[in-house]
Amino acid sequence: MALDLSKFRNIGICAHIDAGKTTVTERILFYTGRSYKMGEVHEGTATMDFLQEEQERGITIQSAATTCPWEYEGTDYTINLIDTPGHVDFTIEVERSMRVLDGAVVVFDGKEGVEAQSETVWRQADRYGVPRICFINKMDKIGADFDFSFKSIKQRLGVKPIAVQLPIGASDTFEGIVDLLTMKAYYFDEGELGAIVTEKDIPDDLREAAELYRHEMVENAVELDDTLMEKYLEDESSITVEEIKAALRKGTIERKCHPTFCGSALKNIGVQRLLNGVIDYLPDPTEVPEVKGTDPRDKDTQMTRPHSPDAPFAGLVFKVVSDTHGDLSYVRIYSGKLPRGTRVLNPGNGKKENVSRIFAMHAKDREALEVAEAGGIVAVIGLRNSMTGDTLCDPDDPILLERMDFPEPVISMSIEPITADDKKKLGEALTTIKREDPSFQANYNDETGETIIAGMGELHLDIKVDILKRTYGVELEVGEPQVAYRETITQPVEDSYTHKKQSGGSGQFGKIDYRIRPGEPGSGFKFESTVVGGNVPKEFFPAIEKGFAGMMDQGPLAGFPMLDVEVELFDGGYHAVDSSAVAFELAARGAFRQSMIRAGPQLSEPFMKVDVYTPEDNVGDVIGDLNRRRAMIKDQEPTPTGIRIKAEAPLAEMFGYIGHLRTITSGRGQFSMEFSHYLPCPQQIAEKVIQAEKERRAAKAS
Ligand code: GDP
Repeated sequence: MALDLSKFRNIGICAHIDAGKTTVTERILFYTGRSYKMGEVHEGTATMDFLQEEQERGITIQSAATTCPWEYEGTDYTINLIDTPGHVDFTIEVERSMRVLDGAVVVFDGKEGVEAQSETVWRQADRYGVPRICFINKMDKIGADFDFSFKSIKQRLGVKPIAVQLPIGASDTFEGIVDLLTMKAYYFDEGELGAIVTEKDIPDDLREAAELYRHEMVENAVELDDTLMEKYLEDESSITVEEIKAALRKGTIERKCHPTFCGSALKNIGVQRLLNGVIDYLPDPTEVPEVKGTDPRDKDTQMTRPHSPDAPFAGLVFKVVSDTHGDLSYVRIYSGKLPRGTRVLNPGNGKKENVSRIFAMHAKDREALEVAEAGGIVAVIGLRNSMTGDTLCDPDDPILLERMDFPEPVISMSIEPITADDKKKLGEALTTIKREDPSFQANYNDETGETIIAGMGELHLDIKVDILKRTYGVELEVGEPQVAYRETITQPVEDSYTHKKQSGGSGQFGKIDYRIRPGEPGSGFKFESTVVGGNVPKEFFPAIEKGFAGMMDQGPLAGFPMLDVEVELFDGGYHAVDSSAVAFELAARGAFRQSMIRAGPQLSEPFMKVDVYTPEDNVGDVIGDLNRRRAMIKDQEPTPTGIRIKAEAPLAEMFGYIGHLRTITSGRGQFSMEFSHYLPCPQQIAEKVIQAEKERRAAKAS
C-alpha cells in the first residue's frame, strides 16, 4: 500500500550561528522520542553533531537527515529533519540541503531579531523558493523582545510575518505561550524537560494584547483567500480556526506569509507547538512544484516527474558520508519506488548502481527498510560511483535532475605531510573527503612537494584539516590561508609539438597540431578533436586529453590552477612502432608548457558579493573604505535603522574587514559576503602576487 504523502514533512531548521538551531534541533529529537537524553550544546553532546570537530566549535556543519515520528491531534506524521549549516562558509552544504527540503523553520534570536547573517540565510532560502515559518527563540534571555523581533522580520526582511503566538512574560519572567488560534495559554513543566504541556486560560493582563494580535492574524489570513474574505466581511465571528489555518497554510506555501512562533529551546518552552506548526503550515511533498530535469539522451528536452510512487523512480544524492561499512548516500526520492536490492542508473556518468540496503536514519539508530517511496529521504548503502549532487533514476525511464552548482573555492592553503606514512594516508583521506564534499579541492604539486587544498572559506579549510588530523590521523604542517588565485588565457594560439625520444631499442614518438583558446567563463577545461584522415589514431585521443587536462592545475604565470581553456586537436603524426599513449600524453604536456605562455595568460582573483549594513551617520566613511578596497558599489538602500550597501569586492582586500567596519561604525555595522565570480587582477597587483608566489615556491623547492 502506498504511503499517504500528506503525513510527511521534509524540513530544515535554518538560522545563522548562535540563534539556537542546534538547541531547537536537539529538543525536536527529544520530543519526537528518538533521543532520550537531552544534550546541551555548551556541553558538546548534541545528537545531530556527529563530528567531534563540530562539537568543539559548537556549530553544525554536516547535513545529516533525521527521521522523526510526530503525533498531532491523534494522527501519526513523519518529519524528516534535514540539517542545514548556519555558516556561510559552507555554501555547498546550504545548497544541497535547500535543494531537498520542502519547507523550513527559520530561527531568530529573540533579543537581536533579524541580524545581517539572518538576512543571508533568508535570501538563500528565497533562491530555492522554500516556504518558511519563523521561530523567535531565546524569549527567556535578558532583553528578549517579541515585538521588536517580529517587526524586524517585517522591516529588515521586507516580508509578511503573521504572529500565531504571543509569549507570556519575557526574559526571566518568560513562562509560556498564548496560542492565538485557540486563544488558550500553554505552560511547559520544568521537571519533565517541558514534555508535559498544560492548557490554561490566557492571563488577564495579556487578554487585550492577545485580542489585538488575533485580530491582525485573522485580517491577514482572510486577505490570503478571496472566499474567506467575503465571509469575513459579512460576519467576522463566523470564521473558524480551521479556516484560518487553511488560509495561512495556503499563504505560507505560496510564500506570501510566514506564521511566526516563539519560545525558548533552552528552557524547553514552545518546541512541541512549533512542531504542530510544521504540520499545520509547511507543505507535504506533493504540495511543492514537481521536480525538474532533462532527458539524459537529449539534453534539450525538459522533463518533470510527478510526486507519485507509481511514476518511474527518480532521486537525488544530496550527501555522501564515508563509513566503515561503505559509503552512506543520502537520497531524496522525488518519484517512484526504490526497493532494496534494485539496480538504478546514475545518468550523469552512465553507470548502474546497486541499492543493497536502505535505511531510515534516526538520530541514534538506523531502521532497515525494504522499500523507500516518493517524498521520502533515506540513506542507501551500495552506491560506488555517485557523488553529492548526482541523480539516480530508473534505467528504463531516465531523467537527469537539475545539477547542483558547486562554487569555485576562493581560499587555499598548503599542507605537507610529515612522514612518508602520513603522505600515503593523506592521499587516501583526500580522495574520500573530495567525494563527500565537491566544493573542496586538493592538488599535489610535484615541483614543491606540497599539497594545496582549497575551499569556501577559512573555517571550511580549518575543519578539513581537523578531520585529516583527527579522523585520519595524518600529521601535517599547515600554511597560512591564501586567496585562491587562478590563471586564465586571453588569446587563441595555433601550434605544433613533437615528443621524440630514442633510448636504446623502442623509442617514443607523438606529434600533435592543436589550437588553444579561452573558454566561456565557468566552462572549465574542454577538449575536442577535429583530426581527419587518421594522422593521429583515435585510440590516442584520451591520452592527449589527459595530458592537457593534467596540466590545468599549474598555470604558466605562477603555477596557480587555470580556468576556462579549450583545446582543439586538428592534426599531428604518429609512428607505427614508437607511438604510444604515454608518448602522446607527454606530447600534450609539452605542448601545454610551450604554448600557454603565448596565449596571453592573466591572473584572476575571486570577487565577493558583499552586503554591508551601517548606521546612516557612517555611510560616507564605509563607502570610502570600500572604495579603497577596490570595491564596486552596486546599490544602496535605506532600512528603518540605517543603510544597506551592496558591493562587489576582491577577496584579497577583505581579510579582517569586520574589525574595520566595527571601528568605523562604533560597533554597529554588520556584513556578510559570498563568492560571486573571478575577475582579472589589475596589472600592478598581479605582478606582486606572481612575484611573491614564485619566491614562495622557489623557497619550498630548494
Ligand atoms: P546554533 O549556532 O544556531 O546552532 O545555536 P546553538 O543551539 O548552538 O545555541 C547558541 C547558544 O545559545 C548556546 O549557548 C545555547 O545554549 C544558547 N541558546 C539556545 N537556545 C536558547 C534559548 O532559548 N535561550 C537562551 N537563553 N539561550 C539559548
